[in-house]
Amino acid sequence: MSKSKKVIEHYRQVIDEFKTSNICKVERVILSPQSADIDVEFPQTSPTKKVINFCANNYLGLSNHPAVVDAARKGLEQHGYGMSSVRFICGTQDIHQELEQKVSKFLGTEDTILYSSCFDANGGVFEALLGEEDVILSDELNHASIIDGIRLCKAHRYRYKHNDMNDLEIHLQQSMERRFRMIATDGVFSMDGELAKLHELIKLAEKYDAILMVDDSHATGFIGKKGRGTHEHFGVLDKIDLITTTFGKALGGASGGCVSGSKIFIDVLRQKSRPYIFSNTVSPVVVAGTIKAIELLEQSTELRDKLEVNTKYFRQKIKEAGFEIVDGFHPIVPIMIHDAKLVQQMARDLYDEGIYVVGFFYPIVPKGKDRIRVQISAIHEKHHIDKAVDAFAKVGRKLGVIK
Ligand SMILES: *Cc1c(COP(=O)(O)O)cnc(C)c1O
Repeated sequence: MSKSKKVIEHYRQVIDEFKTSNICKVERVILSPQSADIDVEFPQTSPTKKVINFCANNYLGLSNHPAVVDAARKGLEQHGYGMSSVRFICGTQDIHQELEQKVSKFLGTEDTILYSSCFDANGGVFEALLGEEDVILSDELNHASIIDGIRLCKAHRYRYKHNDMNDLEIHLQQSMERRFRMIATDGVFSMDGELAKLHELIKLAEKYDAILMVDDSHATGFIGKKGRGTHEHFGVLDKIDLITTTFGKALGGASGGCVSGSKIFIDVLRQKSRPYIFSNTVSPVVVAGTIKAIELLEQSTELRDKLEVNTKYFRQKIKEAGFEIVDGFHPIVPIMIHDAKLVQQMARDLYDEGIYVVGFFYPIVPKGKDRIRVQISAIHEKHHIDKAVDAFAKVGRKLGVIK
């Protein structure tokens, strides 16, 4: 044990800095299944409380859907709990391949490879496909897992200005001497619920012979008429080379992720991608649940349709109440407050009113862009949303955010 005084002192300071800065993360504890109405405990501060959940990625309400839970239970009974092996040794079951085929069909791609998370998918996709002769052009607001995945790869990298196609094009022009170019972007940027400009990205990718990679974690299951994702929304179903996505958000929300796209790339990933080769895949329980989640979406668009209706309704009502929001159609609805202190007070007061939302403030978002981020779900009923809007109006008036 090397817990010298010096070591302990150092890490105590690290923790103290977190505590005195604005970014110390304190976890609330949910005592019920993930749903619209949940029981939450905030250790030491407040006793167990029933609140309406507006901060989960449970976009379609599948996290505790009876059909998904039932399928997961059957998966457990029929396929056991764990694999105790990586895929290429003896860790692949029939249902893992079934899920890969299901995902390919749902996303409209040639092939799919599973990872134990989308973080791992992004950690394994770049290094396996690109080397030091190549270049990756990455949106500056991309998810942490894309940033980390790129770090693991020897390719040169450029961070282009957020959604700025001119800046991207300049970097593409400057990288024509490289062997391959890859553009990497979030399909939906999670702070603003804003979509990547897929049309223009595809044009640039074609013009400069670049591979296009889109992380659709905040889109798979509900964006697009059938919920296939941003590529369906933009009508470019077969134009994306690589899609990475998660099963940990709309598709049941347990865990797991994948890379889906051109078969040639997936073939290479199976041979070379380190998180796939050296880490266990998704548990059979989760595989069975995710298969059912996708089947539900194939059978009917009811859930994503309801999410769309709910989102429209909330966006309209919250604007009518006098709040400023970032316009759009994504179920992520940022309510702009422009003041870090006010955001924190507002989130606390809303919680007291039984509305569970999270504030994002500097340094998590740029100074002056402080906001409450609301996430709408298909599991919300009109009365949930009405209650939230009323609480927002009450707290907003009290704090002087609205008149
Ligand atoms: C949530 C998220 C991830 C991580 O997904 P996990 O499966 O939980 O690892 C990756 N990328 C984006 C864009 C995300 O929003």
